[in-house]
Amino acid sequence: MSAKGDMVYAWTTDAELHKKGECGGAVTALLKYALESKMVDAVFAIKKGSDLYDAVPTLITDPKEVDSTAGSLHCGTLLVSKLVKKYLDGASNMKIAMTVKGCDAMAMYEIAKRKQINLDNVIMIGVNCGGSVSPIAARRMITDKFGVDPDSVHKEEIDKGQFIIEFEGGHKGISIDELEEHGYGRRSNCRRCKMKVPRQSDLACGNWGVIGEKAGKATFVEVCSEKGANLLDAAVKSGKLATEAPNPKGLEMRGKVEGAMYKLSDKWRKKYFENLGTGRDRLKKIVQDTSRCIKCYSCIEACPICYCVECSTKKPHLVEPGEVPPNFMFHLIRFAHIADSCVNCGQCEELCPMEIPNALYMHANQVELEKMFGYTPGQDMTLPIMALVEERTERDRLHSTGEDMIYNVFK
Ligand code: FAD
Ligand code: SF4
Ligand code: SF4
Ligand code: SF4
Ligand code: SF4
Repeated sequence: MSAKGDMVYAWTTDAELHKKGECGGAVTALLKYALESKMVDAVFAIKKGSDLYDAVPTLITDPKEVDSTAGSLHCGTLLVSKLVKKYLDGASNMKIAMTVKGCDAMAMYEIAKRKQINLDNVIMIGVNCGGSVSPIAARRMITDKFGVDPDSVHKEEIDKGQFIIEFEGGHKGISIDELEEHGYGRRSNCRRCKMKVPRQSDLACGNWGVIGEKAGKATFVEVCSEKGANLLDAAVKSGKLATEAPNPKGLEMRGKVEGAMYKLSDKWRKKYFENLGTGRDRLKKIVQDTSRCIKCYSCIEACPICYCVECSTKKPHLVEPGEVPPNFMFHLIRFAHIADSCVNCGQCEELCPMEIPNALYMHANQVELEKMFGYTPGQDMTLPIMALVEERTERDRLHSTGEDMIYNVFK
């Protein structure tokens, strides 16, 4: 019997799936087994759309279709968590197994704390994540730095610190450090991210630490919960998944790489936050940058922490209707409501049509708030400072009692 903290190398026993999988197809085999065995009603994963820059979230109920989601899409910058809340009714009536990157896993917890997702109905298979590259930036990078037509690329991977492409007529790798020095490479939030091994998932899977003859052919799986242990054991027992003990040297290397990634993230945090300045200078910069805002609401729509039925930014007494750019109050409302819980997923920046670095501002605020109040978002079910009420229940209470104090913490 496996238990939390156990670690194994794992791979699928299905030869076809093994070829399709990124590192031996263990993740896909686990998802498929969960569906076949009726542990879950559906699998929610990512598959390639029209090309490798097009990561498409997909809900699967037929086990035969799960193989189509095998493989890692490093230009897949989407966040799956809010989709579970928005389109799958927060998994309230359906059991799902899903693949999550670190930011997805963090957001799942923040949404669950707000009672918008039922984590009891979700099996989270985490994938380690060194970072993702925005599709537009990737196309530009492949054209400018690799000198290759992005449409001729049929495979990309990130291996040993390099971004590697395979295209008609060859393959080429350039170190991520070099790419990032020249303004290409991973998204800025990914550079600052410190959720590289998502241990708040049920299983954390990745290629770090797989060495020797299994390198590239197996995935390093860390068991992070009882739910994860049960799935792993059952998949092995059914013969769908094979495992072996990890190479001790590989185990050591995995720890070292993880540590090095955190150091790198600290370096980037320092650089980005210092460039923002402090105090009034920082505020001035944010006011100036956000003056480009066209109030399209994309940042709110995409943010996993923004879920309110009645958003304050749409209240005429707070933000003047029809005024573009909106008064700075529009942005202040977001800072005030969600900065403590920002998981640095980057969506509010990635989807901003005016290229306002919203995620940087919010992440910088989150880090300051964490220092002040000690609340770290996305790790577990600990409640944030202000999450003391559930919105729908609270609105009902306000309507029925005529009270107007939402966060009545003095009761
Ligand atoms: P497969 O069986 O091939 O399954 C892969 C799963 O990942 C599928 O369920 C698929 O839907 C899902 N997926 C693909 N793209 C995305 C995406 N963009 N977002 C969410 N889910 C996705 N491992 C490391 O050890 N170090 C790293 O630095 C690292 N960086 C990664 C970066 C990204 C963006 C991704 C997606 C994965 C990364 N991994 C990293 C994990 C690694 O690439 C493999 O996914 C893992 O080893 C499992 O291999 P597998 O063959 O079992 O997976
Ligand atoms: Fe990966 Fe972190 Fe970037 Fe999310 S924010 S894609 S977990 S590096
Ligand atoms: Fe993600 Fe931006 Fe919301 Fe933070 S504020 S959680 S970076 S969308
Ligand atoms: Fe809710 Fe505030 Fe986000 Fe609007 S900005 S959805 S009120 S948290
Ligand atoms: Fe303004 Fe950008 Fe948010 Fe749209 S996404 S409302 S332009 S900050």
